[in-house]
Amino acid sequence: MSDFLAQSVLDTRRHQAFPTLSPADIERVRRFGKPRSYAAGDTLVSTGEAGHGLTIILAGKVDITQRDRAGQPTLIVTHEAGSFMGELAQLAGRPSLVDAHAQEPVEALEIPPDRLRALLIAEADLGERIMRALILRRVGLLESGGGGPVIVGRAESGDVLRLQGFLRRNGHPQQTLNPDTDEEAKALIERFDVHPEQLPIVLCPGGQLLRNPGEEELARCIGLVGPIDPARVYDVAIVGAGPAGLATAVYAASEGLSALVLDCRAFGGQAGASSRIENYLGFPTGITGMALMARAYNQAQKFGAEMAIPDEVKSLAVRDDRFVLNVGNGETVTARGVVIASGARYRRLPVANLDAFEATSIHYWASPLEGKLCAEQEVALVGAGNSAGQATVFLATQARKVWLLVRGASLEASMSRYLVDRINGLSNVEVVTGAQVTALDGHDGMLETVRWRRGKTGEETQRPIRHLFLFIGAEPNTDWLAGSGIARDNKGFVLTGPRIGLDVHPLRTSQRGVFAVGDVRADSTKRVAAAVGEGAQAVAALHAYFAASTREGRP
Ligand SMILES: Cc1cc2nc3c(=O)[nH]c(=O)nc-3n(C[C@H](O)[C@H](O)[C@H](O)COP(=O)(O)OP(=O)(O)OC[C@H]3O[C@@H](n4cnc5c(N)ncnc54)[C@H](O)[C@@H]3O)c2cc1C
Repeated sequence: MSDFLAQSVLDTRRHQAFPTLSPADIERVRRFGKPRSYAAGDTLVSTGEAGHGLTIILAGKVDITQRDRAGQPTLIVTHEAGSFMGELAQLAGRPSLVDAHAQEPVEALEIPPDRLRALLIAEADLGERIMRALILRRVGLLESGGGGPVIVGRAESGDVLRLQGFLRRNGHPQQTLNPDTDEEAKALIERFDVHPEQLPIVLCPGGQLLRNPGEEELARCIGLVGPIDPARVYDVAIVGAGPAGLATAVYAASEGLSALVLDCRAFGGQAGASSRIENYLGFPTGITGMALMARAYNQAQKFGAEMAIPDEVKSLAVRDDRFVLNVGNGETVTARGVVIASGARYRRLPVANLDAFEATSIHYWASPLEGKLCAEQEVALVGAGNSAGQATVFLATQARKVWLLVRGASLEASMSRYLVDRINGLSNVEVVTGAQVTALDGHDGMLETVRWRRGKTGEETQRPIRHLFLFIGAEPNTDWLAGSGIARDNKGFVLTGPRIGLDVHPLRTSQRGVFAVGDVRADSTKRVAAAVGEGAQAVAALHAYFAASTREGRP
């Protein structure tokens, strides 16, 4: 057994990651596959090869290896009769992350990706065991980085962090080599004649070398995203793979609609960036946003939803009762219906190192959870709207002192009178008007001090603050709707239902056949559960729209 397995989840949950199917199980799934034979030494699958599904071994032995940083094979597992080859990539026929070689003559049952998805749905019990194994195997590969691209660059480089972040958010294995400390990295740099300013470079499993690539270039190289079929008409195109978009995809695909989800960055949206979601139904101990969203992403693919990530939608147009989304590079998506789930982004402070503290010390709301973190401490809150006022009143019950930093000259202009009065009556709240945060300092992601300057006097204050709250509003991701005719409010949020003045479905936009869900929708509740609920509702509304279209004789 390799070192890789010694530290892996594949070790602790080995029986679930590599289950053996019984002869009765195999009989049940025979109808989904085709028999195949291989001679000893044959390659069944190579790293980087796309289109493979699940292969069940009926007789013989197959070695599964992953390539280390130098391209040398490391054994992960040897499959024997009753076990099966594959991991999450095979659900959608994405490039393989491992190599598979027949150790001796092999008889196998090969199940292509579409039949694999059908099997997972038709055989619920067996499907659960197979799906769990595929997920655990991916987790194992994520732990080791095996099968993914190798980034060569300095650990502190912004571009290295960008590429690592992109791959991590998309649940893709990766390895990084630092030329300052790693002999292999130095050798690679010499071999490919790379100048320091061209770092980082990325070596893709297929052997390609990329020089400081953009996310899309990298995604295409490793097969995360492929070309869109211009002739295909999807039932629904879903813009955004946050909770709202993924929920729409799960319900649409599970109810038989062909669905394509597009996202310009990664699956998970804002929720994917949350270190712990405590208020989502059914997770009493909380769950990381990434774990929750990865489950939804896999679930949507299990039902057959297709993913185009990263692909940014640039515009929406209506042509002959069809919707056409332009995704740049001359590519378009055509669909009978569209669900806008492109979300919003919280406004961030323009302070240089905000990122460094965002996971632990910067908060975009104040729930009892954050309240506990602030017990008996000094905290600062930036904002002047009602949400800032409510959060201040709440935090004052938890923290020793709350600094309310307001950019304008007074609170009255933007906050309700009752909140202003309440804040004025709180002895542990100090309102600082004309204030601007100028610097954040701390260590290991934990904020230690906040500095701010007062406009007129220029006087600077520095306080020992470990938690900073930002309530400076959210901006919708709706620039791509300019020119589409879809009605939006004065902040850019999409108007739906009664807000467009029509007696229509509450999620319908001003354009028939186009629905908006989640944070992008004006007046929506900005929460994961609300976004998910709206995704489910939008699918019911789509069915009604398609039924009406059929009745009216439209395609
Ligand atoms: C740090 C943080 C912590 C949070 N914690 C919680 C919590 O604990 N509990 C809770 O209930 N809520 C929480 N929220 C709020 C919650 O995450 C959001 O309400 C929820 O994610 C909204 O989901 P959505 O799908 O509508 O939009 P988003 O999550 O914003 O997703 C929208 C997606 O659309 C994509 N997109 C945008 N424009 C385009 C385009 N033109 N083309 C293609 N793709 C596009 C984006 O890349 C993004 O992935 C948190 C938010 C943040 C920022």
